[in-house]
Amino acid sequence: MSARLLDGRAIARTMLEETRHELALHAAGRSTPPAIRVVLVGDDPASAMYARRILKSAEGVGASGGLVTLSGASAAGAVRDRLHELSSDDGVDGIILQLPLPDHLEMEAVIAGLSPEKDLDGIHALNAGRISRRAGGFAPSCAEAAVQILLRSQVPLAGRLAVVVGRSNVVGRPAGLLLTEEDATVTTCHRQTAALAEQVRAAEIVVVAAGSPGLVSGDMVRPGAVLIDCGINVLADGSVVGDLDLPSVLPVAGAVTPVPGGVGPVTNAVLMEHLARAVRARATLGREGSLSPVTAA
Ligand code: NAD
Repeated sequence: MSARLLDGRAIARTMLEETRHELALHAAGRSTPPAIRVVLVGDDPASAMYARRILKSAEGVGASGGLVTLSGASAAGAVRDRLHELSSDDGVDGIILQLPLPDHLEMEAVIAGLSPEKDLDGIHALNAGRISRRAGGFAPSCAEAAVQILLRSQVPLAGRLAVVVGRSNVVGRPAGLLLTEEDATVTTCHRQTAALAEQVRAAEIVVVAAGSPGLVSGDMVRPGAVLIDCGINVLADGSVVGDLDLPSVLPVAGAVTPVPGGVGPVTNAVLMEHLARAVRARATLGREGSLSPVTAA
């Protein structure tokens, strides 16, 4: 047996095409195209590369995009103020703050300037709350991408045993919530989990988001299980791998996402879907009023 590869690039193409159509419908009544801003603090090359990819996806769906760069030495107040300015700009529909932030910046202090309604990557606490209370809101894009891949690959989730490896705010924790929302029975594993192999072996679906190359190997996998790999690890030779040990996993699993070409492209496509949602919400609610940031700068 060899696992089916779940092709994230193909899924992303379909999603982007759907979003392009939806945005075209909404753009018909506007004088300007839908617009996003990607905010980059500092000059981390990987973040800059992701920002360029997001802007390319935006262009592909008919949105206008712009990169806002801030010095890596910026104070939290300066970054928060810039986010507040963008949030208050009627010409901007969605904002993506590239993470990670430089070490000296405290995430919550910075995010206070961001309007939850324009927070396409679901990093604002209000969106986290809305997701956990099933009250709408934007989920973090990578977590939603993991679940989108399962749904769009017709992997049944209701009543099935799922394990998420990782509990960060941006991937593991929201992935667990979204899987629960799809009626899976979810176990969350993390660094303190005593018997990781045993937990993973019980699962029919595994979402791994640990940032640890080769963490999940074939001997830990239940035969036929579906494995979604969110990990992005750059090795010393410059190659990029996920958290699955693919050579040992492939003969055992039922389906896996490759890295690259799995969760990554779908993550970008989710951001564009969120842009379409933000644009639709603004068209419904009007362009004023509820779009101001929750916390003024
Ligand atoms: P993080 O470091 O914030 O969290 C990692 C989580 O994994 C923690 O909860 C930790 O307890 C757990 N973990 C780490 N090592 C473990 C181990 N040996 N056993 C059990 N649990 C372990 O990382 P993150 O921001 O959640 O990102 C996770 C991975 O996903 C990274 O590789 C990151 O690059 C990738 N990522 C991908 C995308 C995407 O678009 N595809 C987006 C965000 C993050």
